[in-house]
Amino acid sequence: MTDLSIISDATLSVPATPQELRHFINGKFVESADGAVSERVSPSHGVVVSRAAKGSESDVNAAVAAARAAFDDGRWSRISAKERAQVLLTVADLIELNTERFALMETLESGKPISQSRGEVSGAADLWRYAASLARTSHGDSHNSLGDDMLGVVLKEPIGVVSIITPWNFPFWILSQKLPFALAAGCTCVVKPSEMTPSTTAMLGELLSAAGLPDGVCNIVLGYGQPVGSQMSTHNEVDMVTFTGSTAVGKRISELASGTLKKVALELGGKNAQVIFPDADLDDAADAVTFGVYFNVGQCCNSSSRIIVHEDIADKFVAKVVALSRKVRFGNPLNPDTQVGAIVTPEHREKIKSYVREAVESGAEVCLGGEAMDVPGIGAQFFQPTIIRGVSADMPIAREEVFGPVLTVLTFRTMDEAIELANDTEYGLSAGIWSDNIHNSLTFARSARAGTVWTNTWMDGFPEVAFGGMKQSGQGREIGQYGYDEFLEVKSVVMRIGRTRQPWVKPA
Ligand code: NAD
Repeated sequence: MTDLSIISDATLSVPATPQELRHFINGKFVESADGAVSERVSPSHGVVVSRAAKGSESDVNAAVAAARAAFDDGRWSRISAKERAQVLLTVADLIELNTERFALMETLESGKPISQSRGEVSGAADLWRYAASLARTSHGDSHNSLGDDMLGVVLKEPIGVVSIITPWNFPFWILSQKLPFALAAGCTCVVKPSEMTPSTTAMLGELLSAAGLPDGVCNIVLGYGQPVGSQMSTHNEVDMVTFTGSTAVGKRISELASGTLKKVALELGGKNAQVIFPDADLDDAADAVTFGVYFNVGQCCNSSSRIIVHEDIADKFVAKVVALSRKVRFGNPLNPDTQVGAIVTPEHREKIKSYVREAVESGAEVCLGGEAMDVPGIGAQFFQPTIIRGVSADMPIAREEVFGPVLTVLTFRTMDEAIELANDTEYGLSAGIWSDNIHNSLTFARSARAGTVWTNTWMDGFPEVAFGGMKQSGQGREIGQYGYDEFLEVKSVVMRIGRTRQPWVKPA
């Protein structure tokens, strides 16, 4: 397609040698016990960009033992929140100082544009700072009205050793939605990044040490879901697993963790709809829809992969999104002007293609794109911006997570219809409405079965505002006070004042 905006040149280049990565266990960088390594090939440039230790069960056992010892001896869990906050604030400063180095690796391993990696890494510093503020301001309750001789206090205590398992699509951001909050609460951690994007998580180990985090408080094991992730989910000495990734793996983790009844928090997939009413600012809505579907190459849990447009404006609105899509700059992620980069693996590119093919065979119409594409001079792991109309709500492309730059268009006539379509999916992560009528916005916001609802905006997020999914998009919440509280146990202490207790056994 010649009428797309494609960038093939770049201002940055791929480093001559791959980044070498090791586990971070008990404050030391170590090879795998069995010496195994795995390599990551850059999705955009097709060359090896990192070589990482590949963990086994014995590496997980060493990491959990270090985390358990660090929790139980109180070197972190029982120091003051002021001291914990100071370490987190120092990590935030170090993240900012190292943004460029981290962003380059994030782009090389994930294929996302360098401008978005820079935003992801430097923006994550604010999550660390916010978590530090929660450490110092969070508290329990007191009950001073239980009677003259009774006092009750509810204490919040760190839950213990936390396993943190993260995906490849926002490696550093998602890590920072979990780790600083767990650390702020006083927990100790074992972290596993995706085998596809290990660099920034492993590199964070250096910053944690430099910031003065005591040895053993955060341990990082690199490797695959099997055996590393599953061992982290079953281990007897782990008190909680927090996972972000696919719904299928989330369900598996829930099963694995049930053996020890450890707490499980899950952030899973989404099939998020934006509903567009005729009275909305259609230019603004079209721009937000374009951003919502192509940001992170559509490989985003919050991708607005479905729009539900009022029939009266559907043609006009789709034409606007098609026109904008042609202007979005696809291509070399090492160019700061690029807005959409590469697809994470060749297998995933094929999966995106098969969703489009299946929709077309069922009668859907391709308004734009629909094909995999080569970016001249770089590689073939890219996908055209794609818009599909004539879709019915029962087609897989309208219900399942495609996880690519593919927008599906549905239409509605009444508010009830729009709500029904938006909720007609097993997911419940996010939803949005565009309308200048406050009654429309509030009715939709209250009826959408989604953890986040945006009105007249898309994908704005803040460390203060809880994030998470309903239905099969997850359980529990991240960030904000609610996200912090996930890492705490609640203990009630009930105290008698004075010798007022009546004997249960009557004296003879
Ligand atoms: P994935 O489920 O394949 O992998 C996620 C992590 O789990 C990786 O570290 C992987 O190694 C590990 N893993 C795999 N099998 C495991 C097992 N049996 N036991 C323990 N760990 C295991 O997901 P992905 O492809 O890396 O990421 C994409 C998915 O993540 C999408 O579905 C997306 O919607 C979801 N996601 C959700 C959010 C959210 O906040 N809701 C954010 C980002 C991504």
